[in-house]
This record gives sequence, structure tokens and C-alpha cells, in this order.
Amino acid sequence: MSATLRLTGPLHDGLVVMATSPIETGAVLLAHQLTLDDGTVILFGDDLIAVPDDAYEIRTDRALQITSDGYIHALKTARDRGMIALWVHSHPGDRAIPRPSTHDRRVNEQLEPLFGDRTETEQYGYLVVSHDAGALTFTGELSGQVTTSITRIAVSWQRWIFRPAYDAPTGADRALFDRNIRAFGDGIQSTISGLTVAIVGAGGTGSATAEQLTRLGVRSFILIDPDTLSDSNTTRVYGSTPADVGRPKVDVLGDYLERIAHGVHTTRIQGSILTEAVARTLIGADVVFGCTDDNAGRLRLSRLPYYYLTPVIDCGVQIPSDQDGLISGVFGRVTTLHPGAACLACRDRIDFALAEAETRSAEEQQRLEKEGYAPALPGVEPAVVTFTTLVAATAVSELLERLVGYGDTPTPSELILYIHDRTLRGNIEDPHTGHYCDPATRRIGTDADMFLGLNWAS
Ligand SMILES: [Zn+2]
Ligand SMILES: [Zn+2]
Repeated sequence: MSATLRLTGPLHDGLVVMATSPIETGAVLLAHQLTLDDGTVILFGDDLIAVPDDAYEIRTDRALQITSDGYIHALKTARDRGMIALWVHSHPGDRAIPRPSTHDRRVNEQLEPLFGDRTETEQYGYLVVSHDAGALTFTGELSGQVTTSITRIAVSWQRWIFRPAYDAPTGADRALFDRNIRAFGDGIQSTISGLTVAIVGAGGTGSATAEQLTRLGVRSFILIDPDTLSDSNTTRVYGSTPADVGRPKVDVLGDYLERIAHGVHTTRIQGSILTEAVARTLIGADVVFGCTDDNAGRLRLSRLPYYYLTPVIDCGVQIPSDQDGLISGVFGRVTTLHPGAACLACRDRIDFALAEAETRSAEEQQRLEKEGYAPALPGVEPAVVTFTTLVAATAVSELLERLVGYGDTPTPSELILYIHDRTLRGNIEDPHTGHYCDPATRRIGTDADMFLGLNWAS
């Protein structure tokens, strides 16, 4: 069992400020705790509450002693929000070792029952933070009802950081990834190799995305698609052959990815993210690629980054035609959703009437269409392998940019490909005040009764 701590950019910045301070600093991190079916624990950081200055009894570059006033108030806030509390303190100095000292271990033993009682979660956690040239280093553990070490911190904001714990084994296969490492360095390659990526939609765009990710070094996939492969799919789906027609798309793609490289593991779900159980599997992914063309699916994906801090790269191709059936343009869209950026709804990228139509039964939809109460669902849309592949490559490059940071800042959160014009343009949209994507509305841990704050068909 292991735990990942997911943080927004501001919370991560708060830890970096503590870690780079020349004197020992303490704080309480409030987090929502979730255990997945496979036993993996995810902590979602909610707030970092600093120890008030007057609560320090001793505070030097090598020692820290605080009164209980330093954390009692934070524990009450944790209880009110139904969250656990982690004791965080720093070991100052560049490349200082963020392992708990003998003294730290005694403090942990004292704090464990107190934190568990006061938050009413029977749960305690600690983090020791330091830095290596300004980059956060840490060790941490949970104890109480759930006992496990915190093996990774994942940060989702403009930049995406996946930092393993100080003592975690790292390192990618240097020979295999030599060319990647020459471009991005060892650390990024090792990060890529440690990612679990969910691909929603195993068609033209999804299969091209998955193939590129595998060749880049991703070894763990969650593949989701309800459909079986049709004849016409083989014109776009990577890894598919005529012999695969009729097989579930997730199996066609999964088998192919596992042949591309050693050590690839695919979790295959032949189902739709309109089903709660299927959508919930996305929580376990580090990054989600949305490669479907439906509005109802997007409506759900759009909420994930704000409730679960999982970044989503949503993409699509549109080939509109005029009245005579002639193509009037070829558009690609890659929208990156993460805490701090606008959701698909705020960007006007979801047609809510169509989203509703897509979830109705066929008879119900036909009746409402006839009566003029529902928009007609589009039929089979045009799709061409070169365009789906181009959009997939743009989406995967977007992941690289978020990890490496080679582009301009502020980073555009959406790219529109005017393929017919041979032009690419970026745009930035801020969350709308009060909407679920507005960080001030604090959605983390608020959907216990309604997953993602939505009604779900069973
Ligand atoms: Zn210490
Ligand atoms: Zn929004």
C-alpha cells in the first residue's frame, strides 16, 4: 500500500516556502483522504495552516518546539471540514535530508493520538520537507486507521509535478530512453515512466495518444471505451487490423500497447464514463486524456480536476461542412483542464442540450426530437486519420510541456488547430467566479453523496 498526496500549485508553493526558510518552520496540512479499491490511498491537500509566530518556543535552523496553540485551531478546522491533519515541518538548508530524526519520531508518537482525537478521524500523518536547489524534497507517513508511507506528491496547476519521496527508488531505463533523456533529462523520463494515464475513448485520437505515450515511457494505462471495433475504425485506430473487427476497442488497443514495450500494464474497461463506477476509476489516474466526441462525457470529465486534482487533456476534431456538403474547415482542439484554469463549461465547450440528449434512451430521444423538445443528435461525423493523429500528438506534447515547462508562461490552457489554415493558436481562460472550477469554491471532498456533484444513472 502507498499514498500519493495531491496538491494545487498554491499549496505546493506554501511547502516550498517552508522548505527554503533558513529556520525550522511548522504547519498543519489539511487533507481529504480517500482509499481506492486496490488499497491505494490518495490525499487531497486542502489547506496549509502555518504555526502562529507566538506559538514557537524554540525555533532555530536545527530545532523546533511549539506549544499546542500552534496546531489546536488547525485541528478544529480539519474536524469541521471532515479532513485529516498532517504535521509538517522543515529541515532547513539546500539538500538537507528530509527524514524524521529520533526527536521527530518522539513528537510523532505524541501527536498521533491527539491529531486523531481532535480531528475525529483516528488518523495522523506527518511530512518532513526540505529542498534541493529550490525543488521540494520530502518524506512522510500516515498512521492510525490507515498506516502507509507517502510515496509521492503530485501537483496540478500550470505546471504538473510528480515528485517521489526522498528515499523512493527512481531512474528510468537510460539506454532505452536515451533520445528522450537527451531532450528532457533523467528526472522527467523517470516521472513519465511512473505515470498512470487514463485514456477515455480508444478510437482514432485515443489510440494515437496511447501509442505515443507508450513510446515516451508511460507503462500504466486505464483504457475506457464501450464499443467494439468496426470496419471503418481500422482506417484510424492504431494497432487495429481487419482481424480485430468485432473485438472490444479497449482489448485491441491494450494488446497493442503491451506489444510495443515490456512492462506495460493496461486496465481495460469496456464501459462508459457516463456510469459512475466507470467514471470513478479515473480518480486513480495521474493524468486523463479525453478522446471522445460526446458532450455528456465531457460534462463529467470537466469536473474531475476540481474535485480530484487530476489534470485532464480534452481533445477533439471537427470537420464542419456547408450546405452543399463541402468541407468548410478542419479544426482541432486541445483543452487542458487543471485547478486554476477554466473548465469546459466556462469555456463554452459543452452543449448541455446535446449532453442531455446523449444520455436519453433512443425511444425517448426520438419522441422529444419529433415533438421539437430536443435537439437532433448528429449522425456519424467525418474523421480522418491524419487529423486525429495531429490532434493526438498536440495533446501528448501538451503533457510534455506541462512536465518540462519549455514553453512560454503563462501557459495557454487551450490550443485550437486551424488545420485548413495551417495555423495553431493558444488561449487562456480563467475560472468563472463561483463556478465549480473557481478554486475559492473548494470542491475537494464535497461530493461524498453525489460523485462530482452530479446525478448518475446506475
Ligand atoms: Zn525534524
Ligand atoms: Zn467553470
